[in-house]
Amino acid sequence: MLGLMQSQQLLISSLIDFAERHHGEVEVVSRRVEGDIHRSTYQQIAARSRQVAHALDRWNLGFGDRVATLAWNGYRHLELYFGVSGSGRVIHTLNPRLHPDQIVWIANHAEDQVLCFDLSFLPIVQVVHGRCTTIKHFVVLCDESKLPGDSGIPGLMSYEAWIGTESSAYEWPDFDENCASSMCYTSGTTGNPKAVLYSHRSTVLHGMSGALPDGLNVSARDCILPVVPMFHVNAWGLPYSAVMIGAKLVFPGPAMDGKSIYELMESEKVNFAAGVPTVWQMLLSHMQASNLRFSTLKRTVIGGSACPPTMISSFSDTYGVEVIHAWGMTEMSPLGTVCTLKNKHQALGAQDKLNVRIKQGRSIYGVDMKIVDGEGKELPWDGVTFGDLLVRGPWVIAEYYKGEGGSPLVDGWFPTGDVATIDADGYMQITDRSKDVIKSGGEWISSIDVENIAMAHPAVAMAACIGIKHPKWDERPIIAVMKKQGAEVSREALLAFYEGKTAKWQIPDDVVFVDAIPLGGTGKMQKSKLREMLRDYRLPVA
Ligand code: AMP
Repeated sequence: MLGLMQSQQLLISSLIDFAERHHGEVEVVSRRVEGDIHRSTYQQIAARSRQVAHALDRWNLGFGDRVATLAWNGYRHLELYFGVSGSGRVIHTLNPRLHPDQIVWIANHAEDQVLCFDLSFLPIVQVVHGRCTTIKHFVVLCDESKLPGDSGIPGLMSYEAWIGTESSAYEWPDFDENCASSMCYTSGTTGNPKAVLYSHRSTVLHGMSGALPDGLNVSARDCILPVVPMFHVNAWGLPYSAVMIGAKLVFPGPAMDGKSIYELMESEKVNFAAGVPTVWQMLLSHMQASNLRFSTLKRTVIGGSACPPTMISSFSDTYGVEVIHAWGMTEMSPLGTVCTLKNKHQALGAQDKLNVRIKQGRSIYGVDMKIVDGEGKELPWDGVTFGDLLVRGPWVIAEYYKGEGGSPLVDGWFPTGDVATIDADGYMQITDRSKDVIKSGGEWISSIDVENIAMAHPAVAMAACIGIKHPKWDERPIIAVMKKQGAEVSREALLAFYEGKTAKWQIPDDVVFVDAIPLGGTGKMQKSKLREMLRDYRLPVA
């Protein structure tokens, strides 16, 4: 017997309609590449998304056609999120931090038809446009007055001229919620990048579960600053969650340095922010150097790579800001786990609470996970045994775009490539990426653990641990360290710092000081690049 309820499709257009009707006056504030601060409202964003839909119709873009963006977080990007997907096309967020050749490869693979880009990316588009064989239209996200005159890009239009003459009345089409809504390529650490194709249904469900109190915990009373880019897994779904619940949104544009982020947080009274550890490291350094305090920030979600425990305690002890550690990946839309405490943890002391908070957290509703051994046998949730982490759920990938690489699933589960433990309370802790774990004398060393200890040293800005071939032990860990500006620490002092904090055999064999740790397009440490940099490195003779 079927239920007798309405079967309205979960479409992205319904989110912006809802925000317009119920939170129309709520602000969306953006720092623009033009340098100024722009103020808009959900009512205006909704009206302009409909103008985008008309403009795409005018160009006869078909249902499911890809519209690419090369853009920072900002209101025009948000309008494209809703105008493109709402009208049945697919928004493809290109990562501007990639090499131009990779951008060309990805745009051609996705068969993008339109490219909308921020003015600051004009030099990239000038280099790539002739090689992007499927793109028919190029749009700069700016006013007509800022349109570059002699760009060399045929038919280049300003966004404002493109949508400006269109009506803001538009009836969103109704279609199957399983249709594609957006597309994001994986970082391609192994071979060519692969595209993940999100659906309206997966995006709406992910946004809804992500907003829950034990998820990102956002509501109409919040002012949200997503520092995590909209070009990387839809800024962790925050644009959808925020619109769904009517929170004020503040977009940082291109300015991610500590000073700019701090000023925006203060001037807009941001109480909740989200980003990767490297961004927060810059913010904390700025706060420490200038002896600043937050007046409104209360919570920040940190994920994308392991959040060092010292960052969690600096935020809470010095600044009274709660850090919520989260884990996910492109193939998971991306939210998988969020580290919020349970009732039983409330009575714990500060250190015991920190011991929970440093874990990547527990599943939000919709994500099922398990750890398995090399033979695929499920391992116990005891917080000690580690194994390959597998996930499944309505916003977890079933297949890559164009069937690339065959089915990624194993008996219906997606292997994440992460190695993890899960404790009896369901809290998952990543030990490593499977390819980064260091195998020493038949035992495993977690590179994240080794890094976290170095990061707790006051002179260390960033640390990356890799394994180096060893004739006896197979591999031994070394730690590459970037010092804080003006700070000093010797190799010996740093190695001594490990004493008593970890097992002796897990202490790195050497410290290599570097000017910078290579970071990828999404702010993650690129250990493959680091290994390449240290190609000629030899372990010290014991
Ligand atoms: P991406 O698809 O580029 O977002 O990368 C996903 C990968 O980033 C995951 O599989 C993890 O290896 C890593 N990652 C994401 N969040 C965390 C976290 N909180 N701690 C450790 N690793 C993380």
